[in-house]
Amino acid sequence: MIIRSATYVISSPDHTKSPAPDRPEYAFIGRSNVGKSSLINMLTGNDKLAKTSATPGKTQLINHFNINDEWYIVDLPGYGFAKRSKTEADSWQDMIFSYLRRRARLRRVLLLIDARRGVMDSDQQVMALLDQTAVSYGLVLTKADELKSAERANVIAAAGQEAHKHTAALAEVQLTSALKGDGIPELRTHLAALAQ
Ligand code: GDP
Repeated sequence: MIIRSATYVISSPDHTKSPAPDRPEYAFIGRSNVGKSSLINMLTGNDKLAKTSATPGKTQLINHFNINDEWYIVDLPGYGFAKRSKTEADSWQDMIFSYLRRRARLRRVLLLIDARRGVMDSDQQVMALLDQTAVSYGLVLTKADELKSAERANVIAAAGQEAHKHTAALAEVQLTSALKGDGIPELRTHLAALAQ
């Protein structure tokens, strides 16, 4: 896919303030610090697009980015950081759930998993939430550069086994590095195929 332009549109506190759902969109979600902003920036070739977070989990906003005036990349707020109250966790869940249910043109969710850690409990909980909304999602492993090449196949296989337990998860797992660029062309091709 050729990304000709990638620009910030809006940060919204909930789906009602998001742009009209008039084009396909792909949402990125993951634990705080998983490397989501870095991956979006690498994917779009714009290293200032998504803000890499110095203070993990500070902002709880849905960020829309306009790609080629044709579709949206959506950066959903991170989860899984320790210092969060039950109320905050519940409001995160409500926000995500209603976003997932209401965005008519949402084509796919990409659930980012830190390749060094694998699928964690908090990721499992989000996978269960995604299953309920029946939006199909794919696991994207981040920080591949932190793995030894001999570990890669095992890490992909283990994530694939977790995906297999969930009804709305796709079998295919992608391995990426925003630092080194591994898996980025494949991820672009994957999104381009969905946009057809
Ligand atoms: P976010 O909170 O999910 O948006 O994560 P960020 O993109 O802000 O990245 C969190 C941390 O992980 C930062 O210190 C990044 O430098 C680091 N990071 C992000 N992507 C990669 C990667 O591909 N490889 C490595 N080694 N570190 C990464």
